[in-house]
Amino acid sequence: MGENKHPIQKYGGTAVLLAAILILFAGNFLQRGDGGAGGGTAVSPDNPYANTPSPQLDADGDLPIIQDNSLAPAPIPYTLDEAAAPAHDFQTYTVQPGDTPLGIADAFGIKTETLLGGNPRLSQESSLLQTDIELLILPIDGVLHDVQSGETLASLSYLYGIAEEDIVAYAPNNLKFPYRLYPDTQILIPGAVRDVFVWTPPTLDSVSSSNSGGVTPLVVGTGTFIFPVTSHNLTQHFWYGHKAIDVGLSVGSAVFAADTGTVTYAGWNIYGYGNLIVVNHGNGYETFYAHLSGFNVVPGQIVTQGQVIGATGNTGNSSGPHIHFEIRLNGNLYDPCGYVGC
Ligand SMILES: [Zn+2]
Repeated sequence: MGENKHPIQKYGGTAVLLAAILILFAGNFLQRGDGGAGGGTAVSPDNPYANTPSPQLDADGDLPIIQDNSLAPAPIPYTLDEAAAPAHDFQTYTVQPGDTPLGIADAFGIKTETLLGGNPRLSQESSLLQTDIELLILPIDGVLHDVQSGETLASLSYLYGIAEEDIVAYAPNNLKFPYRLYPDTQILIPGAVRDVFVWTPPTLDSVSSSNSGGVTPLVVGTGTFIFPVTSHNLTQHFWYGHKAIDVGLSVGSAVFAADTGTVTYAGWNIYGYGNLIVVNHGNGYETFYAHLSGFNVVPGQIVTQGQVIGATGNTGNSSGPHIHFEIRLNGNLYDPCGYVGC
């Protein structure tokens, strides 16, 4: 007895084990079948994306535009000092009878050139320095520049040949990094000098305006010059903004050719000279006689030194009866007093 075990006893342990495996297998199968049929993804409760909705296509089939800008970069990454427009504070001066450019500049402690720097309409014919006009007096020597659209600090530096840091260093310009310029404002360019417009007369075919022109002049002057009028009442000397002399005298006084030459211009001039005669002396020299009231010569006519060529007047940009007299050599203007004595 005891040696013959009942079959259930003999295999009972194995049967229980097999039953347990079947139950586990069946349970796993049922669980998967239940979950898979729903089409969703099983997620654990701690999944950070658990509540993120899936992107839904809009009516046009495009992805929606994200409205949430919480991660967008800030439009201004860091704060700059707000650049201010220039804040100039200029003096003005009203021209009085008898004033000269040099006298006004001396009174304000600036160069005569700086009168041009602050007053671009003062041309080389400074008869424009008329009584009662108001001049803008810059506080330092330089040029007041009207900013145009598209101009930069670098372009102004190039234009005037003044270092960018010198322009920035002038405090009233209010230039702060990144040195933005504002159109319709004015920047003072310290130390700059404004170019002066110089009108060039036409050249006749038979007369060369310079020795290198390769054209044979009709006549060649003596190379010496006489004073073009009888008066020696100088009302304005030669300076950067006025490369000539002005001699005051009554209207209708005789004007003499300073040297022998050919008349290349005798007529009205729109650049401030009024009625103008230009004589080319065939040796590189030209003489200019401006603000005349009348002409005794015509273009192309040969004149001799001392010949009456016209009459003084008050035409063009003129503040009173006077003659404006220039001597040019190869296009460059020199002080007539160095040739005719003043
Ligand atoms: Zn003049």
